[in-house]
Formats: sequence, structure tokens, C-alpha cells
Amino acid sequence: MAGTYSRSTQLLVIGGGPGGYMAAIRSGQLGRAALVVERQELGGECLNRGCIPSKALIHASLLYHTLRTEGAEVGVIATDPKFDLAQAMRWKEEVVGKERQGVAALLKSAGATVAQLCTVNGGTSGEERTPASTTTRTSTSPPAMVASFTMS
Ligand SMILES: Cc1cc2nc3c(=O)[nH]c(=O)nc-3n(C[C@H](O)[C@H](O)[C@H](O)COP(=O)(O)OP(=O)(O)OC[C@H]3O[C@@H](n4cnc5c(N)ncnc54)[C@H](O)[C@@H]3O)c2cc1C
Repeated sequence: MAGTYSRSTQLLVIGGGPGGYMAAIRSGQLGRAALVVERQELGGECLNRGCIPSKALIHASLLYHTLRTEGAEVGVIATDPKFDLAQAMRWKEEVVGKERQGVAALLKSAGATVAQLCTVNGGTSGEERTPASTTTRTSTSPPAMVASFTMS
């Protein structure tokens, strides 16, 4: 929502990776809508660079390898199969994009708000910035905080 406004939050989740988004979804299921602060892309290391893209590319390369090495033996004939790396990367990006939308939808249905930036002042108020808005959030008590990151 565009504009500046105030409202309370009880749970501040720093990081929208698997640790953060699962915490926010569970919190929503328990009746407490979370504010998730993710400075890059929802899904974190796993969805954007790790588990999902690596498994997508492994799947594509295994398919190619199996066709070349075992296809004829089991009766699957593909004449001179080629590995199109550019197309494999496009397909991988599509998979990642769909999964990212899935995470955003799950967070929305858990009542969570996603922001790119949040500053918390004294535990009683905070300001978040989303691409479309600047928001001031206040809380009568300090919000609980959860942070989850991959160490590199
Ligand atoms: C190549 C590779 C393959 C992997 N394969 C698997 C697998 O098959 N199975 C498996 O279980 N695990 C796998 N992993 C590990 C998995 O990616 C991590 O365990 C998982 O991503 C950790 O989740 P997380 O939410 O704790 O942290 P992250 O995924 O690192 O998410 C943290 C998020 O916090 C954000 N962030 C950081 N600092 C701030 C800040 N100050 N303000 C706002 N946002 C911030 C980051 O942008 C990031 O999106 C793999 C990892 C790699 C690198």
C-alpha cells in the first residue's frame, strides 16, 4: 500500500529465507501476523542460489546425460541430443520465479507483510520501506525478533 501509516507488529522476522519465511508462516498460523524484512529476494540462499537452482540444473544435465548414455539401450532414441545451456538457465530461472511467487503467496495468506528495509527505534517503533511505500509501525511492547541467515 502506498503512503505512510502506522500499525503495530508483534513479530519482526529478519531474512526471508527458509528459516525466516517458515517462522512468519507459523506465526501467522498461531494468530500473529509477522513483518518480514528481506533486503534481496524472498526465498534466501536456498531458493535463489542453492537448493532449488542447483537441483533444477542437475535435473537438466542428468536428463541429457541419461539420453546420451542409456537412451538407445533402453529403446529411447533421440538423435544427437544437445545441451542448450542458455535454455537450461532460462528454465531454471522460471522454476525459481514460480517458487518465489509461491513463498510470497504463502506469506500473504499467513497475514505477513514483506519489507525491504526496517529500522527499529528503542523496540517501540520502527520504520519500514517497501518498493511502493514508507511505513511507520509502532508497538506498545517491543516486538519479538527472529533472524535466520546462511553463514558464508
Ligand atoms: C549450492 C547450495 C545447495 C544447497 N542445497 C541444499 C539442499 O539441497 N537442501 C538443504 O536443506 N539445504 C541446502 N542448502 C542450504 C540452504 O540453502 C540453507 O540451509 C538455507 O538457505 C538456510 O536458510 P536461512 O533462512 O537460514 O538463511 P538464508 O537462506 O541465507 O536466508 C537469509 C535471508 O536473509 C536476508 N538478509 C540477510 N541479512 C539481512 C538484513 N540485514 N536485512 C534483511 N534481510 C537480510 C538475505 O538476503 C537472505 O534472503 C544449499 C546451499 C547451497 C549454497
